[in-house]
Amino acid sequence: MDFELSDEQHRWQETVHEFCAREVRPLAAEMDERQEYNAAAVRKMGPLGLLGLNVPEQYGGAEIDAISAAIAIEELGWADGGTALSVSAHNGLACAPIALFGTEQQKVRWLPKLALGSEGLGSLALTEPGGGSDLMGGVQTRAELTNGEWIINGSKAWITNASVASQIVTLCRTDPGGGSRALSLIVVPVGSAGLHIHPAEKKMGVRASPTHALTFEKVRVPEDHLLGAPGDGIYQTLEVLDGGRVSIGALAVGLARSAAEEAIRYAKERRAFGEPLSQKQAIQWMIADAATEIEAARLLVYRAAWLKQAELPFTKEASIAKLFATEMAERVCRNAIQILGGYGYSAEYPVERIYRDARLMTIGEGTSEIQRLVIARRVLGIE
Ligand SMILES: Cc1cc2nc3c(=O)[nH]c(=O)nc-3n(C[C@H](O)[C@H](O)[C@H](O)COP(=O)(O)OP(=O)(O)OC[C@H]3O[C@@H](n4cnc5c(N)ncnc54)[C@H](O)[C@@H]3O)c2cc1C
Repeated sequence: MDFELSDEQHRWQETVHEFCAREVRPLAAEMDERQEYNAAAVRKMGPLGLLGLNVPEQYGGAEIDAISAAIAIEELGWADGGTALSVSAHNGLACAPIALFGTEQQKVRWLPKLALGSEGLGSLALTEPGGGSDLMGGVQTRAELTNGEWIINGSKAWITNASVASQIVTLCRTDPGGGSRALSLIVVPVGSAGLHIHPAEKKMGVRASPTHALTFEKVRVPEDHLLGAPGDGIYQTLEVLDGGRVSIGALAVGLARSAAEEAIRYAKERRAFGEPLSQKQAIQWMIADAATEIEAARLLVYRAAWLKQAELPFTKEASIAKLFATEMAERVCRNAIQILGGYGYSAEYPVERIYRDARLMTIGEGTSEIQRLVIARRVLGIE
């Protein structure tokens, strides 16, 4: 067992950190305030490899290992939760299904432009107005194969990146009969006739990440836009979400780290009752708890990433990492606000924004309740 990052991973961390400190973090407050996507920074991420983390080199990606991918997302999370969410979803949810399940022709057609971000990011559309956790029951968007084309009708809700994406991997019901083989993933190009992307949702946090409802009205896409075989959709989705959950765990570690750094800086400067706050035991305990929990969460994230990289089962470990890291980030941000007192509640300081960003992480890509369900089923051996 080796707990040390390799030299290459250290260098990668430094590179991504410097980029984030220069291009992403300084704009985080402004982007949140304006509810605006940081397009300029994201454009620069393609050449750096940040938009093709798991994409093989032969298709223009960075093809880095899963721990390095977690390192990158943690740094982005440290810099700005909204931008990090968009990049995490692009890599983990939009590129991953094509890299994992696409044919050679599909990979050649879609991955290079996604990895470079030359035509925008990617999205994954699973959730519908009627349900997000229960995909098998909730997905009502229908795709029917007619004369070599899928004709798609339905609606989706809460789709990250839709307005800045070139394509949306869409979970559709291809067999009206139901059952576990009723759903399929189909790649829908943005700009397809009948695909309506509604105005961005007004959100509590991650406001630099655009989120949209979608309507599909007789959207026609060629038959070969299906990923894998008809009926593979739910299995593909679950596999993709395992990877996505490691990424959200990493993002949450970055958010917590950022909030803790602010709290530590403030506690050293602010004086109360004749001494810095950092001398107060109650404050020290909150900082000690933050340091402990951040470290524990990062190790859980790395462990899940390591299993993924080794191509070993990692569903339970991904859920454990996401559950712990995201709930940890909420606790750390809550305490960071407490340490800053009234200033913590002010938009003048970043901790209230980071707290709002962190709140999403226990909901997106499977709520904490769903993570507990996944973990419990595996611990108890329930099918
Ligand atoms: C900012 C943002 C970005 C998002 N991006 C995307 C995206 O890019 N693509 C996408 O497809 N979706 C996206 N989502 C949707 C997100 O994945 C869903 O909101 C989430 O999965 C929960 O689904 P739901 O909102 O339908 O809640 P529901 O499934 O209706 O759940 C409501 C509550 O019931 C609980 N619950 C449900 N089932 C159970 C159960 N069996 N046991 C115990 N408790 C249960 C849930 O934990 C939750 O507390 C995004 C959401 C947000 C807010």
